[in-house]
Amino acid sequence: KKITIAIDGFSSTGKSTLAKQLAKHLGYVYVDTGAMYRAITLHAMDNGFISEDYFNKQGLIDSLSDITLQFLYNPELEYAEVYLDEENVESRIRSLNVSNLVSRVAEVSEVRAKLVEQQKHMGENKGVVMDGRDIGTVVFPNAELKLFMTASPETRAQRRFEELTQKGDNVTYEDVLKNVQERDYIDSHRKDSPLVKAADAIEIDNSHLSIQEQFDRVLTLAKK
Ligand code: C5P
Repeated sequence: KKITIAIDGFSSTGKSTLAKQLAKHLGYVYVDTGAMYRAITLHAMDNGFISEDYFNKQGLIDSLSDITLQFLYNPELEYAEVYLDEENVESRIRSLNVSNLVSRVAEVSEVRAKLVEQQKHMGENKGVVMDGRDIGTVVFPNAELKLFMTASPETRAQRRFEELTQKGDNVTYEDVLKNVQERDYIDSHRKDSPLVKAADAIEIDNSHLSIQEQFDRVLTLAKK
């Protein structure tokens, strides 16, 4: 039987790595909901609605109905990449600039409503692994398997730092740690759908687990 797997947790806890592996192994659809919030943030930046010290929320809200977000499967990468209107924004949305503003965009109820509505229809009847902050609580409250991933802030910042520097981004560990901590704070204190562990989610602290150990553990849970 195909099930829905909801993976939530703090920033850079390895949610997407695990979700991608699971989806590939099970032949399920993988949806990275963070990419959707990031793409909306990019749209807000490109159109001058948001910067470090400025946020025209209403401008962003009014423009939401004009944008189309899509995931298109890339057979080489074996996962779907996110498109904002016609543009593949997969690489642009991962910059620290976007990371620094995304949690403020994700606080806007109209943004959440648009994305949650779209997410609820993704991977219908296909088997889906979706990762984010509110998947087990809001998007799929009836998911058969819910995971809540945690790891120490330092472990997470180190992982994200390595990812960004490998791509050639000129960032410091301190900048990344600050970003991870700020996003955790905003994400867990916002009014609309704050980041909380669903009552029936299984918590996985992966500070000291290898990717393989995590995968094996979760696969056993998925098969139960
Ligand atoms: O998962 P990722 O780190 O790419 O998510 C980026 C940001 O998008 C999060 O810090 C959070 O502010 C927002 N987000 C959200 N709800 C989701 C997924 C992401 O609010 N389901």
